[in-house]
Amino acid sequence: MITVKRLHKYYKEHHLFKGIDLDVRKGEAVVLIGPSGSGKSTFLRCINGLEYFQEGEIDVDGIQLHSINRLHPGKEDLEIIRQIRLKAGMVFQQFNLFPHMTVLENIIESPVQVLRMEKHSATEQATAILKRINMQAKAQSFPHQLSGGEQQRAAIARALAMKPEAMLFDEPTSSLDPEMVGEVLSVIKDLVNEGMTTLIATHEMGFAREVADRVVVFDKGDILETGPPEKIFTNPSAERTRAFLSRILIP
Ligand code: ADP
Ligand code: MG
Repeated sequence: MITVKRLHKYYKEHHLFKGIDLDVRKGEAVVLIGPSGSGKSTFLRCINGLEYFQEGEIDVDGIQLHSINRLHPGKEDLEIIRQIRLKAGMVFQQFNLFPHMTVLENIIESPVQVLRMEKHSATEQATAILKRINMQAKAQSFPHQLSGGEQQRAAIARALAMKPEAMLFDEPTSSLDPEMVGEVLSVIKDLVNEGMTTLIATHEMGFAREVADRVVVFDKGDILETGPPEKIFTNPSAERTRAFLSRILIP
């Protein structure tokens, strides 16, 4: 579903990714872990067309994004990025809801504007999604009237309303108070169990262990290793994985 090949990314003279690869199968839940600054966000942002990269190829469900596209994006390049974003919905640490719109309006905005859905069917669909994540009572609330956990669930609902083939989560619980982390992770867990292809950058190791089909360990722009959670968390191959895990698991 998602293939990243020989990805090179520079931030000015900083050569962050030196030809990294990753394959994500349809329905797979892949969790990205690693220290701050290791490149998890940049990796997700490259897949979603939010960052350009200098070399390599990214394929999301048949839509190919090449490095060359982004240097001087022409009409065709912008069209590819648009299509990639339709394939892969993204949820960020900050909830990014439109503050002047209700939860329902936030969710139907893109289906109506971008997918040209009829307002009544977009509303029906939004209501069904809200029900699924137990947020139907908040449909008419504005973002500032919601808790952080509710705002993030609404942001997930908004991404789902575009019927993506895959979902990318960049530290979706990092700006939440601890008591709200569980409700957001539980929505993501349900998505994974329903077979959604997901890539999730997180520091929630318990969650990673529970939902990941595969864990990918980033360090300094490199992928140290990938493997099933049982392997990574109990018997990692790389010394740097061991060091990272011991830092965060035994504070
Ligand atoms: P993570 O999400 O794992 O914390 P990031 O992808 O945010 O890591 O960052 C990886 C590296 O790239 C860091 O060294 C960071 O300083 C650098 N970086 C990220 N975004 C930018 C940017 N917009 N400009 C310059 N350097 C950046
Ligand atoms: Mg990050």
